[in-house]
Amino acid sequence: QQAPVITIDGPGGSGKGTIAGLLARRLGWNLLDSGALYRLLAFAARNHGVDLTNEAALEALAAHLDVQFVAAEDGREQQIILEGEDVSRAIRTEAVGAGASQVAALPAVRDALLQRQRAFREAPGLVADGRDMGTVVFADAQLKVYLTASAQERASRRHRQLLEKGETANLASLLDEIVARDERDMNRSVAPLKPADDAIQIDSTQMGIEEVLETVHAMALERN
Ligand code: C5P
Repeated sequence: QQAPVITIDGPGGSGKGTIAGLLARRLGWNLLDSGALYRLLAFAARNHGVDLTNEAALEALAAHLDVQFVAAEDGREQQIILEGEDVSRAIRTEAVGAGASQVAALPAVRDALLQRQRAFREAPGLVADGRDMGTVVFADAQLKVYLTASAQERASRRHRQLLEKGETANLASLLDEIVARDERDMNRSVAPLKPADDAIQIDSTQMGIEEVLETVHAMALERN
């Protein structure tokens, strides 16, 4: 019998990454931040001078990606190491996100990352967040959540985050980027962003992190 999986899919800025991380820690389960894999690939491609439209070269790069995820400890976030270098922060920029969304539209790239994602499914369980966790990668998951929020709200959350980090940010251009990325993720031909038929949808526009976490945690306990 395979370990249980909870999937949390949704658009960027919906809070799925935060919720997945907190839920995994609360349950003592493993965590898969699948978006990080696409971000890492876009980042590695830039480092190696691989063009983001070169599907064959990106497929090879994806198959050999030298990456380690170091589990979060109390008060610290998961660390992501690429080719020996801590890139946890470097892969979070809007530019890398846009590159990720570009490489994620290539079927050979998605195939190359499939087994790597499924390998995260280990006892006692896995919380996986992304765009196609419930529809493709873990279609047999016990609990599938589809987390959304209005584009306006997601842009202002991102804006706040950047300001807190002491970076400069423009709300209008963040909103434009979010809308463009949604558009690309929802309309691609392979594994487009959409709720699984059996997903439970949660709109977090008017909800805080704690409230969403409690809601999802209660659902997880119900299904166990
Ligand atoms: O979630 P995050 O913003 O880190 O994802 C970056 C990009 O990676 C997304 O815009 C999407 O195009 C792609 N992605 C994907 N499938 C996933 C996770 C992310 O296509 N499961």
